[in-house]
Amino acid sequence: MSVTQSDLAFDQHHIWHPYTSMSHPLPCYPVEAAAGVELHLADGRRLVDGMSSWWAAIHGYNHPQLNLAAAQQLEKMSHVMFGGITHPAAIALCRRLVAMTPQALQCVFLADSGSVAVEVALKMALQYWQVRGERRQHMLTLRHGYHGDTFGAMSVCDPDNSMHRLYQGFLAQHLFAPAPPCRFDEEWNEQDIAPFAALLQQHADEVAAVILEPIVQGAGGMRIYHPTYLKRVRELCDHYQVLLIADEIATGFGRTGKLFACEHAGVVPDILCLGKALTGGYMTLSATLTSRQVADTISKGAAGCFMHGPTFMGNPLACAVAEASLTLLAENRWQAQVNAIETQLKQQLLPLAAQPKVADVRVLGAIGVVEMREPVDVAQLQREFVERGVWLRPFGTLIYLMPPYIIEPEPLSRLTAAVAAAVR
Ligand code: PMP
Repeated sequence: MSVTQSDLAFDQHHIWHPYTSMSHPLPCYPVEAAAGVELHLADGRRLVDGMSSWWAAIHGYNHPQLNLAAAQQLEKMSHVMFGGITHPAAIALCRRLVAMTPQALQCVFLADSGSVAVEVALKMALQYWQVRGERRQHMLTLRHGYHGDTFGAMSVCDPDNSMHRLYQGFLAQHLFAPAPPCRFDEEWNEQDIAPFAALLQQHADEVAAVILEPIVQGAGGMRIYHPTYLKRVRELCDHYQVLLIADEIATGFGRTGKLFACEHAGVVPDILCLGKALTGGYMTLSATLTSRQVADTISKGAAGCFMHGPTFMGNPLACAVAEASLTLLAENRWQAQVNAIETQLKQQLLPLAAQPKVADVRVLGAIGVVEMREPVDVAQLQREFVERGVWLRPFGTLIYLMPPYIIEPEPLSRLTAAVAAAVR
């Protein structure tokens, strides 16, 4: 089935796309298939993918092992309710998650999407303190953070720099520390943690949890900060006995050069949110992991349970593919792949910092960011990228890439060359 002009007209008039207008939608490119690191457009053109479908497709598209896992699971059942029922796909996946995450994280809650994983984490933190008889109803988080589009998640996104300010009257009020000022590879300045420390000290008995994206703040500005900042946050959370929620939905599964970004700082969160690359980008699934102590405390409360249970919890099809994706990661090629991508991105992107229109360039693991001085014209730039045979989707002042780990040097050079042409 191929996409006709009439299909595209229908799409424009009837289908919302992410963060776009229904009245003046940005152009959409019809993709009919994808394989390896390429998206196949309906008109026959092939684009090198620099986005991994928003951090997710780490092994590339149409992967034989992931396809096989989906097909085999489909033969058994695509879904069954998780209330009162369990199944081999969920058990195998959760076994792997418990084994590959820090020893302290022992209990897994499976849900539908990253945003829901964040909702679950926030609810867990609230229920935890409720059971302990303390009225702690605020979260402490960082400016420039991004945690998803549902109401709880929106309430901990940057209050100014996100579209979520639109809903401000409806959102729970939380505490925001300034974004970490220190870059990943700069010399650490102890003063950089002072505003966070002061805020936590002042509000310690109202704060249920600190929630942050470890090391890389993604959609709130693609900022990459110093590991010591995260280390200090963990120490302060311990000191004031506040829970630490690490949102590794974007950074998890190797993207920053470590399996989980928390490893850069040697810290272990009390609650860990995972999503995106969990299924290798095949379908939506997320996981929220906690320590046994957090899980047991929540379970001791008057409710006797954690109050959440989505219809598609533990979806077998998604679990089977996720398990296959984690099996691929366990083969351990990702480390060398991500290191090679990082080296090449540094060689090819860092020199762009000298361009007059470029404000900053930063690279960590398989993430490259070129920050422009002025916001880019997304539709125009995207057209140019497609003409150059690459798929990149800039936002605001940011042109960024996070290709599938399997990308080879030549297609990666095509991506960086397209970025270089655009900034000139
Ligand atoms: N947290 C982070 C750090 C994210 O980057 C995202 C997605 N961009 C989310 C949460 C929300 O995930 P989802 O889009 O799957 O709801």
